Amino acid sequence: MTDIEFFKDGKRIDGRTYDQLRPMEAKAGVLKNADGSGYFRFGNTIAIAGVYGPREVHPKHLENPKEAILRCTYSMASFSTTERKRPGPDRRSIEISKVTTEAIKPVLFLEEFPRTSIDVYIEIIQADASTRCAGINAASIALADAGIPMRDLVASASAGKVAGEIVLDIAGKEDTEGEVDLPVAYYPKKNLVTLLQMDGKVSFEEFEKIFDLAVNGAKKVYEVQKKALKDKYKEEVVE
Ligand code: UDP
Repeated sequence: MTDIEFFKDGKRIDGRTYDQLRPMEAKAGVLKNADGSGYFRFGNTIAIAGVYGPREVHPKHLENPKEAILRCTYSMASFSTTERKRPGPDRRSIEISKVTTEAIKPVLFLEEFPRTSIDVYIEIIQADASTRCAGINAASIALADAGIPMRDLVASASAGKVAGEIVLDIAGKEDTEGEVDLPVAYYPKKNLVTLLQMDGKVSFEEFEKIFDLAVNGAKKVYEVQKKALKDKYKEEVVE
């Protein structure tokens, strides 16, 4: 148990209400050298994604004659955490790369590009919880920015339980001292959840509340992602 005071006068440590996301910021086309790129920020969590492809597959034996292969690689920069993060893949980043790939795959028309790969590199520049959600959000923007045919964007957010209360988008001390964290990725046009993970224990009723809150958060993220893409093209017209 902890003696931190998580709630005061209906507000959280950082001043948010229980169902409020951290301030969001999103941009499309932030990298010059990738085919498409995206930036997404939830408070102090910042992700950048770069997309290459559809392109020739290396190693060749991974080629699929029926469709493109999607490979998402999640990585945390050494300077992204309070303690220096050892560079290179570890168990956690391999897991997040896999679930990110699975979360995004359903929205892509992979069948249009057989024998190719679409590679998405996600870099967490600054980490303060929900980095996998921020990474998915940046990756979706980057794929759209690369002109990859998509059925929809995938939007992601997490909700959880802190000191007995159900809250949206846990961060800071809520993350390190919280009880439950439940990230979801959401495919809005089909009302489909493409990622659902949870650590900690809750009752089924609480699970439903946390889940609904996370999906509602993802719906707000979706609006921010769409705006980022529209803004990029608005700027291009003006130029
Ligand atoms: N974290 C860290 N070092 C690590 C892994 C995680 O400092 O090597 C922190 C980071 O702030 C991250 C948080 O712990 O956002 C929660 O990590 P988790 O594995 O739950 O994934 P996330 O919530 O970032 O998707």
